[in-house]
Order: sequence, then C-alpha cells, then structure tokens
Amino acid sequence: MKKINKIFWRTIFASCLLLANFNIPIVSAQTLGDLKQELAEFKAEYEKNKQEQQLTESELKQAKQEINTIEINIVNAQQQIANLNNEIEQLTIEIENKEAEIEDILVFFQVASGENAYLEYAFGAKDFTDFIYRLAVSEQLTSYNEDLVTEYKQNIEDNKKKTEELAQKQIELANERTALEKKVAEISVRVDKLDEYGLSIEEQIKAQENEIKIYEEAGCKDSDDLNACIAQATPYDTEFWLPLEIGQVTGWAEPRYNPVTGNYEMHHGVDMSRSNANSTDYAIYPIANGVVTNIIDLEVASSGRYVRSCGGRKVFVQHNINGKIYTSAYWHLRAINVEVGQVVSKMTQIGVMGGNPATDYWDKDSYGNFCTTGAHLHLELSDRKVSAGDGYSSYRAGFIAPQYVLDFPNKYVYWYSRY
Ligand SMILES: [Zn+2]
Repeated sequence: MKKINKIFWRTIFASCLLLANFNIPIVSAQTLGDLKQELAEFKAEYEKNKQEQQLTESELKQAKQEINTIEINIVNAQQQIANLNNEIEQLTIEIENKEAEIEDILVFFQVASGENAYLEYAFGAKDFTDFIYRLAVSEQLTSYNEDLVTEYKQNIEDNKKKTEELAQKQIELANERTALEKKVAEISVRVDKLDEYGLSIEEQIKAQENEIKIYEEAGCKDSDDLNACIAQATPYDTEFWLPLEIGQVTGWAEPRYNPVTGNYEMHHGVDMSRSNANSTDYAIYPIANGVVTNIIDLEVASSGRYVRSCGGRKVFVQHNINGKIYTSAYWHLRAINVEVGQVVSKMTQIGVMGGNPATDYWDKDSYGNFCTTGAHLHLELSDRKVSAGDGYSSYRAGFIAPQYVLDFPNKYVYWYSRY
C-alpha cells in the first residue's frame, strides 16, 4: 500500500512537471452539449499542440513507462480482489456447513430432552461396557460442539477481515485508475499515438464523434443528461457470455514480455483461439447485448502501406450490464459484419477471427513486424466508454482484465458453450 501511494504521488508530481503549461479539462461532461463542447476544445488543443508541442521521444518514453507501471498495479489489484472474493466465497460455504453441523447437534439436544442430554444418554446404557462407551461419545460430542462454535466464530472474524481488505484494495484500485486517467489525459493532446496498440488521437476523436451521433439518433438533445443518453442508447443486459462458440484461452490479460517488442508490459486483453483458425472463418460474437460505438478498419497510406498497426481491424461494443457501462473490443478481425451505431445482441455475428501472418498481411506494426503468430481473438474490456470526454483515452484507463469478469475455463482447456 505504501508503495502504491508512492507511485501514485510520484506520477501526479511528474505529470505536473511535464504538463504545467497545459489546461486540460478533466471534468466529466454533464450533458450531451457539454460533451460536444469538450470535444471541440480537445480538438482545438490537439491541433495547436500538433504543430507546436509534441512530446519528445524521451518524454513519451517516460510517460509510457509510468502508465505501464500503473497498469501493472491495477491488474495486480484486480487479481488480488478476485482471489479475496474467492476466499470469502469459500469461507461463506464453510460457515454454512458448520451451521448445518451445529444445527444437527442442537436437534440431538432437543430429542434428548434438554441440559442433561449427555447424562441421560450415558445412563441409558444397557450395561457397564455400554455406559463407558456412551460416556466417551458424550465427551467427544461436547468438545466437538465447543470446537465448532469457536471455529465458527473465527470464520466469521476472518470473513469480516477479508471484506475490509477487499474494500481497501478497491480504494487503492480506484486511486491508481484516477492517476492513470489523468496521466493519459495529459499526454494525449501532445502525442499522435501513445503506442502501437492504443487508439491514435484522431481515432479517439472519430470515436467521440460517432458516440455523439449515436446519442443524437437515440433522441438525445444537447440539454439532456449524458448518463441518461448513454442508458437510452445502450441495450441492457444482465451477464457476459464468451465471444466464441468453441475456443480456448492462449493468453491472459497480464503483464508479459511482448512477443513483438520484447518489452515487459501490460497485455490488455485475453487471447483465445481454436484449431485451424488460420484457415477457417470462425464467427466472433459480442460478449453482451450492446451498441457498436467504434470500428477501426484498414486504411492505406499514400505510401501504399496499411496505416493501421497492431490489432488490424477492430470492433468496439458498448454495453449496459445491470446499469453499469462497459466497452468490449475485438481485435485482429479478418472481416467485420457490423456498422457503427448498430444495435447488437449476443447472437449477432460481429466479425471473423483473423491474424494469420501468412494471409492477413495487414496485421503488422508501423515497423512492419507481424503482430500475431497465428489467427486468434484479442478481447479487451473496459468499465467505461471508448472516449469519455475526460481523457479521450480513458477507455484504456478503465481496462479490466476480462478473466476476472468472464467465465473462462483454464488456459488451453476448450469450452463448448458460451455461457
Ligand atoms: Zn492479445
């Protein structure tokens, strides 16, 4: 916890030094009109900085390292919270079992008519041998009973402590995220693109424009509350399913040595595949009902090279799960079957799995290196919109390791049902 605080403050301090001259709105839009206003301001700021004050290579490198550190802390906290949740679940089951055992003993007492139950039981013996036996059983039963009550109390205490730990972890996680979001917001106007994997500023601006259009088409006016607009435009659902009918996980969302760059960094999504994926067109489905808020498709630069870097074609779907907003992203798609603004259900095919280096030649980084070793789906999840108006890259700041939310089997174990 101390370490997290140190990193948190160091990041805030470094951010202040780095960007003391910039006045970037980090306040969330209240209405649709505010969102439009923020987008206009952001565009103006970005255009101005594009000419004048882009980050130097070393500034960018430093900022990326800081973001990476925070991201690793976030995913570690997510893992610890998931582990704590499991432990609490186990403890709850144990306590329920103990309660059942205690219940059984109480029933015995009642049947045996009260406080002298053990004695009555012992004196009910047929002969002396039986008496000795019954006495021994009574003794065991009494101490067993006491042990049970002690253990039961201990379990409740443990459970309380774990719950407190969990609450503390969640606060730490929220702080880390705020730091990350500020960091991303502050540097985003001064770079064209943070890395080979994230959205470029221009893509984020386009995503924000798409989103505004979606809310307007859903009937929202400038004076309307933004959260109400989001809820209105985003189909409701209650749970996540898996995005493939059949598949296996080949990589979790966790820090790793990037196979392309060799750097130790966050892998933001879960990778999954299926046999013969290079040569078969496997359907990709959204993990919940939602609305398509953004699509990154192939674009050819004047040089004849593909503009898009790692991930190739991508689809972003915004969800409303029990009133909470999420965005899921699907990368390396060989084909896309949906359009921006389209409402999708869990049964709507959104694309085809791709990323075969031999045929899907578009899936390369800007240095011309292949981004994949074989066709697979890279699935990302965020607990916010693609662009939130208070950071424009905060979709990434809100990332959740999908393995803590979706019900995947273990790595390399096939599933045959999406739920
Ligand atoms: Zn991946």
